[in-house]
Amino acid sequence: MSVIGIDFGNESCYIAVAKAGGIETIANDYSLRGTPSCVAFSQKNRILGVAAKNQMVTNMKNTVFGFKRLLGRKFSDPHVQKEFKNFPFKVEPRPDGGIGIRVNYLGEDNVFSPEQITAMLFTKLKESAMIALQTPINDCVICVPSYFTNAERNALLDAAAIAGLNVLRLMNETTATALAYGIYKQDLPTPEEKSKNVVFVDFGHSSLQVSACAFNKGKLRVLATSCDAFCGGRDIDTALAEYFCQDFISRYKLDPKKNQRAYLRLLQEVEKLKKQMSANNTRLPLNIECFMEERDVSGDMQRSQMEQLCAETFSRIEKTLRNILYNAKLRSEDISSVEIVGGSTRIPAVKNLIENVFGKQPSTTLNQDEAVSRGCALQCAMLSPAVRVREFSVTDVQPYGVRLAWDQDGDMEVFPAFHAAPFSKMLTFYRKEPFSVSAFYSEQVPYPDSFIGQWYIKDVQPTPEGESQKVKLKVRVNIHGIITVASASLVEKKQEVGQSEGVEMENANENAPNQKCQEQPMDTNGTQEQQNGPENQEEDDKKDKSKDKTKKVLVKTVELPIDSRTHGLSQTELNSFLEQEGKMQAQDRQEKERADARNALEEYVYELRGKLCDGVLRDFIGDEPRDRLISSLDSIETWLYDEGEDQTRQVYSDKLTQLRTEGEPIQQRRLEFELRPGALDDFALVI
Ligand code: ATP
Ligand code: MG
Repeated sequence: MSVIGIDFGNESCYIAVAKAGGIETIANDYSLRGTPSCVAFSQKNRILGVAAKNQMVTNMKNTVFGFKRLLGRKFSDPHVQKEFKNFPFKVEPRPDGGIGIRVNYLGEDNVFSPEQITAMLFTKLKESAMIALQTPINDCVICVPSYFTNAERNALLDAAAIAGLNVLRLMNETTATALAYGIYKQDLPTPEEKSKNVVFVDFGHSSLQVSACAFNKGKLRVLATSCDAFCGGRDIDTALAEYFCQDFISRYKLDPKKNQRAYLRLLQEVEKLKKQMSANNTRLPLNIECFMEERDVSGDMQRSQMEQLCAETFSRIEKTLRNILYNAKLRSEDISSVEIVGGSTRIPAVKNLIENVFGKQPSTTLNQDEAVSRGCALQCAMLSPAVRVREFSVTDVQPYGVRLAWDQDGDMEVFPAFHAAPFSKMLTFYRKEPFSVSAFYSEQVPYPDSFIGQWYIKDVQPTPEGESQKVKLKVRVNIHGIITVASASLVEKKQEVGQSEGVEMENANENAPNQKCQEQPMDTNGTQEQQNGPENQEEDDKKDKSKDKTKKVLVKTVELPIDSRTHGLSQTELNSFLEQEGKMQAQDRQEKERADARNALEEYVYELRGKLCDGVLRDFIGDEPRDRLISSLDSIETWLYDEGEDQTRQVYSDKLTQLRTEGEPIQQRRLEFELRPGALDDFALVI
């Protein structure tokens, strides 16, 4: 069983594997390390990754991309409405308000959710890893942007589940990068020394993420993050495309926006131009043949012009870079180095901005494209018993504050922004009946709504004396960065003489044991008032003990059932998607076997004909049967490109078997001839 890390980027994905010898990046079926986040549909199968991107322009309506940004969102979300403008494929609202992507698959209209499309890509990544490693793949760590909210994280977990992946952790992208950086660093300060602060900047295709981390030997602690979820390399492409649209309208009277295919090609060409501009500061040409109305177009651009056109993007970048200093409470002189990853940090203007803000040149210690996946693979190895890696403790943060609300006006902040994660807090309620609590993000999040979830705690009853019961809720930012009420328990305390002391102190924070759990009594007797403000349960227990040392306290805790309403697919939906995915995989397999059988037949036809015409078999068959065989090979070839183009696997393999019964005896005669003693002499004679 292999452990892998997946960087699911908006533009491309990388997979890394942790092995005893270190971390390796896995190449896909095209021997490329990056796999485009692209999923396409045809009459016969799904086309995934590189192949999907390659046919994008000719199969625009059925080639889906940019779906990372649709995960966990509703159709009406203003952000996705904006994304839709860039899509040549059809989108529509699903009955539950979610997003439906309508494509033609197997000759029929099909509507898929973003989770399903993501699962299809994951299936491809899983397969690439399986082929490369020759082992089953199950456990993995997948990255997410640190700004992803609960809804998006749950959607990603659902997608992974549909693809049959067991996600040991959803890891924040910049944290994965920090781990990939820290684990091999030899010169980190000891735990007693002042930490080494490093800033990581990941400027990718669709967003910008920055984090500040404190390193000591064997550990890293994320101090803060700052992100712009709506600013990425693609915004530069859009600005350049806009410029050329105006240019082509004025010089050629051609408007690329009126033709989706032309606009898509323009976007691809300006992206190439943008990359060239990162390396060259000369005027660079842009030429597109047969662009629109069968006309060729051309234009040019210089780096400084691009920088002017993208001034807004660059000022957003600068703002986000400055925010990290504020969020992490660091001055630029407190930072030892600024490490850059992500394709768009190759842009010289971005590097200059980084230097201006932090007063030091950005470093490229890490592989810019692969660092995230490598960090994920490392984390996966740390969480899995399958591979041993160096111990390295990672403490992440929860980037947004989280509030808990109950009754009409009960409200408290459970986690302030940039609180350590994963982390649990125990909250105590005094209740006589079932009750519910809701969680919200307490500040603005890059998601239309701040609702996290609602949990209904069942089976709460008054004590036999009619008093309130003590109910402890465990509110948790889990290993995936998802906020949840992990459990609710009823605490029955009985004082009995002669019984052993049974006060339970829970370590609520199993993943960061150095941080103490807090218990806060909050509400009493359903009076909707907070009782004397937060109080520490630990002290409470001490008081109990000091009051009467002879009395023993027996504590019994009973787990209470919880009904929850949060984001994510229901089990029924998940099961139906799983079943659908299974069928599609079977269809893909079947289509692959069919294509393989056709190729095998075609190959055999060419090979045998070549050998019969002027090759090694020419003299091992009489003239007349040879001519007959060659002509039947010719007719099979014609058939293959005509009605034989689209037959079942069986038809091809039957034909191949039939041909072999004719071809193999000839091959056999040659073999026997070669093996005869003195064959070489004879062979010389034949020649
Ligand atoms: P995201 O992190 O936003 O989900 P991603 O991980 O797929 O997306 P990356 O692979 O880090 O994104 O970066 C892709 C972006 O980098 C694209 O917009 C691409 O045009 C840009 N890019 C790659 N190389 C260069 C270069 N040399 N100069 C400028 N931009 C580049
Ligand atoms: Mg990325």
